[in-house]
Amino acid sequence: MNFQLNDTQKMMRDLARDFATKELAPIAAEIDQEERIPKEIIEKMAEIGFTALNVPEEYGGPGLDTVCKVLVVSELARQCASTAEVIAVHTLVNDIFLKHGTEAQKQKYLTAAVEGKIGAFALTEAGAGSDAAAAKTKAVVDGDDYVINGSKCFISNMGPTEGDYVVVIALTEPEKGVKGMSAIVVDRGTPGFTVGKREEKMGIRGADISELIFEDCRVPRSNLVGKEGEGFKIAMMALDGGRIGMAAQALGICEAAIAASVKYMGERVQFGKPIGKNQGLQWYLADMATRTEAAKALILEAAVAADNGQPLSKLAAMCKYYASENAVWVTNKALQIHGGYGYMRDYPIERMYRDARIVPIYEGTSEVQKMVIAREVMK
Ligand SMILES: Cc1cc2nc3c(=O)[nH]c(=O)nc-3n(C[C@H](O)[C@H](O)[C@H](O)COP(=O)(O)OP(=O)(O)OC[C@H]3O[C@@H](n4cnc5c(N)ncnc54)[C@H](O)[C@@H]3O)c2cc1C
Repeated sequence: MNFQLNDTQKMMRDLARDFATKELAPIAAEIDQEERIPKEIIEKMAEIGFTALNVPEEYGGPGLDTVCKVLVVSELARQCASTAEVIAVHTLVNDIFLKHGTEAQKQKYLTAAVEGKIGAFALTEAGAGSDAAAAKTKAVVDGDDYVINGSKCFISNMGPTEGDYVVVIALTEPEKGVKGMSAIVVDRGTPGFTVGKREEKMGIRGADISELIFEDCRVPRSNLVGKEGEGFKIAMMALDGGRIGMAAQALGICEAAIAASVKYMGERVQFGKPIGKNQGLQWYLADMATRTEAAKALILEAAVAADNGQPLSKLAAMCKYYASENAVWVTNKALQIHGGYGYMRDYPIERMYRDARIVPIYEGTSEVQKMVIAREVMK
């Protein structure tokens, strides 16, 4: 497989690296501590096309491929995993409209993405996490409307004032189970839709993760995305693409942790020499770098498969599983290399360690990825 980047991909990688270094690196610790990404960051990302990466030119976007998404998300994650998460999830939502939206929905939501409006995707409920098919939120047809009742939890890109629209997976024909689920878009401000508790998290603290509540929330039937009964399928397809984005987030965190470790190993002197002179720590580094390159290769393979329209479930699950577990492992080793200083907030390693910990959980836990991989391997 040829992983040579083309000119556009190189340009996007460099643009993202430049943006992340200049705009995110100086405030990444503040974003973590204040638990908030400044609005100007989202506005600046919209200006340079990051909120519309996968939006085609006809809707005002750059129409970039999945490899570009991987490069941009990983470069953002090197400096600020919270910001990377916003773009990874938002791109997944763009993808839902691209693949399943009506022309009117594309005109509305893809254009909104170009302007810097941010989308969310709501599948998870209190009683339906890994078993997403157990979701209970209902959308009942009433005349020309759906009336939505229920609640979703842990929804990214929705905060007290942040987040503009959400694609909700709800039961339109409950008796049919997953085959009775549909995808419906709901705008912020729709009566009956409220954003509840914003979660206080271990990591990616800048990212908004909230509960969503629907109480007799009425939306026109034209808000249906795709066909009735296809909601679960749409969600699973979206997650295949989304998992590549999350793997890219893990990759960026690893690359940053390795770079910080190399620097620290050269600076920190113990027993009269830099700690990097110790072969034991060099071997940590060798393993961290080897595993991270392997993760990168798997992620790029999945991204190329996505861009070629090839079957994605297995590769997406593999790259998300491997890259996310690796991020936890690599940041743990990086923290060890930093010793006590790594445990302190003066160094970014403790933040990277906390940020990495989410990746094997969201968009399907590692255990769920292994279920997907095993199912595909045994086919
Ligand atoms: C920060 C954050 C952001 C999120 N953003 C979103 C979002 O934007 N939209 C959205 O819809 N959801 C979102 N989620 C939800 C996320 O996808 C779920 O948390 C995740 O799928 C796991 O569900 P759960 O937390 O209910 O864990 P559970 O499903 O209760 O799992 C608990 C444990 O049991 C294991 N387990 C469960 N079933 C099996 C099995 N059959 N075999 C083996 N092990 C099993 C799991 O792997 C896990 O280790 C987010 C979550 C977090 C924490």
